[in-house]
Amino acid sequence: MTSSLGYAEKLSYRADVGTVGMPELFDSSKDLQSKIEELADLISSSRHLVVFTGAGISTSCGIPDFRGPKGIWTLQHEGKPMPKIEMPFDQARPGITHMALYELQQAGILKFVISQNIDGLHLRSGIVRSQLAELHGNCFREVCSSCEKEYFRDFEVETLGCKPTGRRCTEHNCGGKLVDTIVDWEDALPPSELKAAEKHTKKADLVLCLGTSLQITPACNLPLKTVRAGGKMVIVNLQATPKDKSAHLLIRGKVDEVISGVMSRLHRRIPPYVHIDRILLSYYYYWTKKKSVKWYFRISSIHGQKLDLPFIKSIEVTFPGRPEFKPATFAKPPCLVRRETMRLTELDVAIKLHFADGCMCTTGEILQTLTFEKSKKDQKKTEKVDTVGALVSLRLRAVEEGITGLPTLIRAQPFPDTSNGSITEYGVVTKIINHAPAVPEPTKEEQTTKEEQATKEEQATKEEQATEEEQANKEEQKPEAAIPVTTKRETPSKVVQKKAPKRRRRT
Ligand SMILES: [Zn+2]
Repeated sequence: MTSSLGYAEKLSYRADVGTVGMPELFDSSKDLQSKIEELADLISSSRHLVVFTGAGISTSCGIPDFRGPKGIWTLQHEGKPMPKIEMPFDQARPGITHMALYELQQAGILKFVISQNIDGLHLRSGIVRSQLAELHGNCFREVCSSCEKEYFRDFEVETLGCKPTGRRCTEHNCGGKLVDTIVDWEDALPPSELKAAEKHTKKADLVLCLGTSLQITPACNLPLKTVRAGGKMVIVNLQATPKDKSAHLLIRGKVDEVISGVMSRLHRRIPPYVHIDRILLSYYYYWTKKKSVKWYFRISSIHGQKLDLPFIKSIEVTFPGRPEFKPATFAKPPCLVRRETMRLTELDVAIKLHFADGCMCTTGEILQTLTFEKSKKDQKKTEKVDTVGALVSLRLRAVEEGITGLPTLIRAQPFPDTSNGSITEYGVVTKIINHAPAVPEPTKEEQTTKEEQATKEEQATKEEQATEEEQANKEEQKPEAAIPVTTKRETPSKVVQKKAPKRRRRT
């Protein structure tokens, strides 16, 4: 297991890493408050918001930055030992800012994220891949050098500098070499990420730079494209940056604190972090001349058959209604059931997952029906699953209903090559981590008072809404004036300031 520091150590040595160890500057709390309000107003009236992130948004997740007082390069520059490892990358969890950005993206407010971080925390938060550019790569991502298919791992990819990782592409008919995605000092930025980032910064009317000293070229020049195209740039960073003079608004505050303030001003929650683990079930079979079917049923990591499933303690496989089939239990890979059965056409399999310690669930069950057709053409069509959509709704349900340990189908495909069978992938929420401060359990009396209060508030909100709607109807249409259409509450912040309407569910 390598850590975040492994990354700095692995980067080829370079004496000149730019300015390091600059003093941290803090706005007065009064200034900070008014700047937070201004930023919230800018966001709610933005048409195309792009966020540009740096190491400063991950320090609260236990990952050191580079140029802060205890940054990797600051300490290196001062001849001091590397900072203490607080958190290996694969254990790090998205923080307040990551989760807030996820919420804004889901709400359709945030259009694109450009990240210089390689910690993979944006993707873990749930940010949609197509709306994210990772300019310096992602230490969990490797890519096929032949067909460009991406693989997101639950372990850190071992190499750096876009070198072969030793694994191969598993796409049908490909088998190309996989390479890591981490760019080294002299490497060019990945063209597809850079192109998307350029497109969105040019289109943006607001670019928000969070926790970055804007020193690494060419990445740091991207936000200026927004300014040149007539948009506004806001910088939230504790240290001065070379681009400060071009900023419309400069906020000297901790990113998490600023973003929390902005979210509450926008009446949006910081959603909990939902950790989804994935598991692959596959089976294939063939018929013998003796009218028996030879079948193989395997449960494995999505990253490779030989790899551990870190979230699983053991797996039980049983065959409901078929006492003649012996159950199987597995504690580590390979988890393979291999049988030969006479005249078998269909078989139900129950897979009971016992989750590892540290998961917020103990068991989960998957039921699968295996069918054994005589020829490939008789095989039932595999149902098409929208993986991205399935993952989004899995997260939403976990947040709204707090369910963990329920495996959900997220991908299905026929078994490749000429074999009969199928491959299915399940996602399961194993952890839900709340960022909101814990609210103490109310006493019974408090509960009653709160309920009364809530009813009153609801009433008041309804009345207010009615007035707002009337107001809105009276007002002439203002194209592109407010937050786009994915949420119900699109009230410009001017109106919102009066009173917080109750949070409503997303549509
Ligand atoms: Zn490939």
